[in-house]
Amino acid sequence: MSQNFETQAVRIQTERSQFSEHSTPLYLTSSFIFDDAEDMRASFAEEKQRNLYSRFSNPNTTEFVDKIVAMEGAEAGYAFATGMSAVFSTFAALLNSGDHIVSSRSVFGSTHSLFTKYLPKWNIETSYFKVNEVDKVESLIQPNTKILYAESPTNPAVDVLDLELLSTIAKKHNLLLVVDNCFATPYLQNPIKFGADLVIHSATKLIDGQGRVLGGVTVGKADLVREIYLFSRNTGPAMSPFNAWVLSKSLETLAVRADKHCENALKVAQFLENHPEVNFVKYPFLKSHPQYEVAKKQMRLGGNIVAFEIKGGVEAGRRFLDRIKLCSLSANLGDSRTIVTHPSSTTHSKLSTEDRLEVGITDGLVRCSVGLEFVDDVIEDLNQALNN
Ligand SMILES: *Cc1c(COP(=O)(O)O)cnc(C)c1O
Repeated sequence: MSQNFETQAVRIQTERSQFSEHSTPLYLTSSFIFDDAEDMRASFAEEKQRNLYSRFSNPNTTEFVDKIVAMEGAEAGYAFATGMSAVFSTFAALLNSGDHIVSSRSVFGSTHSLFTKYLPKWNIETSYFKVNEVDKVESLIQPNTKILYAESPTNPAVDVLDLELLSTIAKKHNLLLVVDNCFATPYLQNPIKFGADLVIHSATKLIDGQGRVLGGVTVGKADLVREIYLFSRNTGPAMSPFNAWVLSKSLETLAVRADKHCENALKVAQFLENHPEVNFVKYPFLKSHPQYEVAKKQMRLGGNIVAFEIKGGVEAGRRFLDRIKLCSLSANLGDSRTIVTHPSSTTHSKLSTEDRLEVGITDGLVRCSVGLEFVDDVIEDLNQALNN
């Protein structure tokens, strides 16, 4: 029976136990037992698909992964303790010393550190293209390039990259296209539909949606996921069963939450666009967004992150944060609570102004992760903080 997204999110479930529970229980067990020597031999030889040890798999992580696989239209997946362990393990499993990556310059901060500080230790180098220079991607490809990497929408400037175009380039040059789909969630965008080979999520964000647990997942082609799985079962970045249980429950409500997040975010973006203290607003589903057409093509809705530039630069940005009353000042995003951050004085303060501008972080840029409060209350808070 073919099932729609919401039905999969609710109905994909691990097998019921002898107790016929309706809601999947929490399987807090580090290992699993075998009937006899032959059962144990066959299980370790992978002649049977079953749980052996929770670093390899567990009913809770399997349920979570099965849902993301279905929602992304993937073949297989593996769940990680954090989004960053998903990113790192994906690269570490698939690349060899001497390989090369081409990546969008606008990537999550720790991913950027991975490219600049850690992967070079194993002689893996990365070349970067700017989000508005996708036409330069081909000129960066070398004979040893293996992976084309991108996030869309990007953090924190909410730029959008054309996934179909990137996939065409990747296929032409025999590269793997790996997409961090964290800002969009599997509900708003499915990169595999546009040709991606692997999709990564930080489940910490909108997938959890309530700021409780960390998690990550990589899904995509079965042969690639197999490599990632073998690397991970030996190196140990597995998601805990408890987090998988929480996150699988979260997926049951992802569609309704995401619809509301996006509705609220669009209203916040429209309000900010008309505010005299705001220079510009970036939101994928505003007509003023430079990649509005691409966003409309590849996303169901615009997401919950709105970026905007306050008049008055760094000082104005800091003043704005100090005046905020209802919203939270926090590093997280995708929470039910609205969160505001000022990247140029916090997360990206160590970059030079030039490097910041390269990824769209102007001095007065504020990132707002719009939550699930009554939207007028959020707008009132932003308004008083802008006007004071
Ligand atoms: C947060 C985030 C990550 C890292 O996820 P963690 O769960 O915090 O390790 C990776 N990519 C993007 C786009 C993110 O927003």
